[in-house]
Amino acid sequence: MTADPGSGPVDGPAGGRSFAIGLRHRFRGITVREGMLVRGPAGWGEFSPFAEYGPRECSRWWAACHEAAHRGWPAPVRDRVPVNVTVPAVDPERAAAIVRAGGCATAKVKVAERGQEPGQDIARVEAVRDAVGPSGRVRVDANGAWDVDTAVRMVRELDRFGLEYVEQPCATLDDLGRVRRRVAVPVAADESVRRAEDPMRVRAAGAADIVVLKVQPLGGVRAALRVAEACGLPVVVSSAVETSVGLAAGVALAAALPELPYACGLATAQMLTDDVTADPLLPEGGYLPVRAVPVDEERLRAVETDPSVWRSRAEAARTAGGSAGP
Ligand SMILES: [Mg+2]
Repeated sequence: MTADPGSGPVDGPAGGRSFAIGLRHRFRGITVREGMLVRGPAGWGEFSPFAEYGPRECSRWWAACHEAAHRGWPAPVRDRVPVNVTVPAVDPERAAAIVRAGGCATAKVKVAERGQEPGQDIARVEAVRDAVGPSGRVRVDANGAWDVDTAVRMVRELDRFGLEYVEQPCATLDDLGRVRRRVAVPVAADESVRRAEDPMRVRAAGAADIVVLKVQPLGGVRAALRVAEACGLPVVVSSAVETSVGLAAGVALAAALPELPYACGLATAQMLTDDVTADPLLPEGGYLPVRAVPVDEERLRAVETDPSVWRSRAEAARTAGGSAGP
């Protein structure tokens, strides 16, 4: 008989080490990324749900952390994962410089930024196309900010530069479907996918050609693989802007998917001002390696916070997960 390692003093929520790391740029309205790391027999896991999520939603994030620490991940079918460089809503010169410094064959360009003009999006995408060259891939991400008519107009306009796909042009599934039926460029659903049942809903609504999946909100690598299989649409694996420990789970998912037709949104380690490892998961030549991420005790201590709040949050998440939870 073995004790439940998830409830032990070291491996469960009670042994978690919490962290707070600055973000180089504001993201989802936050400037500091917080979370907790847990060590288990299989390695380190990250539990970093955003502040507004309650115990029920956090239970999936906890399941992902527990899987990493206690089970590890399914065998990879590839040893490296292509990733995209992300270009924020900056001016064309800066956009081109980011692409050249990123060294990735695929660039994701943020568009539809509040307060900006359509001409700024067009100039940015044009500069990015020039920087990646004719063989590079350019995708745009509107984060749901366009209405249907604006999305259709802008996607057609921006497709002059050759778009791989448009990510979340509008906020709702209905509007995504309306855009999809009026443009030739494939549509990807990102914000529309937050729970395990969402990808099936996206597919049933005919709302997108591609789904963006993240490991923590879906409850782990195995859970995300099941979602991908059930949904049947091509998957782009993306991060929730985790430390390299959390990113390794995204890489594990991307490495285990039978098909990986698109570069993944996992090159986000550099969005953080610090990390918990001496060897962060940063892209080399447009790829992330499939590997374990050892936590560096000194680096972790430098960003460590009082764990009491996070331990309570994890305990509540674990309890909310019920018998199906870890
Ligand atoms: Mg997105």
